[in-house]
Amino acid sequence: MILNIVIPCYNEEAVLPETNRQLTELIGEWISRDVLNDCRIVYVDDGSKDRTWEIIEGLQQESPYAHGLKLAHNVGHQHALWAGLMNSVGKCDAVVSIDADLQHDIHAIEEMVDAYKDGCEVVYGVRNDRATDSAFKKKTALGFYRLMGKMGVDLIPNHADFRLLGSKALEALSQYPERNLFLRGMVRSLGFKEKIVHFECHDRFAGESKYTLRKMFNFAVDGITSFSVQPLRIISLIGLVCVGISIVEMIYILVAYFRGDVIRGWASLLFSVWFLGGLLLFSMGVVGEYIGKIYKEVKRRPRFIVEKEV
Ligand code: UDP
Ligand code: MG
Repeated sequence: MILNIVIPCYNEEAVLPETNRQLTELIGEWISRDVLNDCRIVYVDDGSKDRTWEIIEGLQQESPYAHGLKLAHNVGHQHALWAGLMNSVGKCDAVVSIDADLQHDIHAIEEMVDAYKDGCEVVYGVRNDRATDSAFKKKTALGFYRLMGKMGVDLIPNHADFRLLGSKALEALSQYPERNLFLRGMVRSLGFKEKIVHFECHDRFAGESKYTLRKMFNFAVDGITSFSVQPLRIISLIGLVCVGISIVEMIYILVAYFRGDVIRGWASLLFSVWFLGGLLLFSMGVVGEYIGKIYKEVKRRPRFIVEKEV
């Protein structure tokens, strides 16, 4: 079988040569053992500002498997991954997506390939623990999966974007026309036969995390708004509660009016004006989030622009 390995790279000059060396060695071994017939590593340069692309071009000499795809500007991890996946459509039997920083155990790929040969179209890499993560990253990741679960988004905990997709799953995925990519959720909704492969997560080999707090936050918001209408339901719920409160308020004001001390209604009126004002603003913010999505969706801009391909 022919395997593609897609690796999104953003400012990864410090790790790429080592990643390529380790992968090339392992692929050679897999081919000699007939695990694979051929392999193609697709490095997607996500508009890096450092020497990442020069290094990718240089890797051609060091590895017969290395290929490169340079995106014209930084589009973010999910879109860079998508670029590599779509580049693989029709060129392989299966595609594995993996991070550039060697945090994902490349030895687990063999188990994924075995699962594929057993008929699984989707194989998820799930990390055993989060011992190598900072306490902050651990907490935010845990909170993220909890929140997504509450919002009704079906995700596999501790599965990032280390996974194998068979050609059928890849073909199906390529028919998703959406611009807001949240691959973990999208792949989960494909519905093919799937399997989980556990792996030990290592420390980042070199360089530092490219996922800033802002990127993580945007990612979480993307995940929820792409897959869940729960926020809209919460608004309706708050709306109902408000109606309830205002009815009680009305009764109170009427009683106060017939007693003759109208001035007492002033405080409650002022309270409700502020309360509802704040609530409306908040609700508008959430609705605006969805309108923003619709806006992006109708614009139909290209997800990425390939500058060159080697
Ligand atoms: N990445 C990317 N574009 C970005 C940010 C990250 O292609 O805008 C890539 C990065 O090069 C790496 C992968 O996405 O291969 C995961 O990023 P990172 O290891 O920094 O994230 P973390 O493991 O800290 O969550
Ligand atoms: Mg990483």
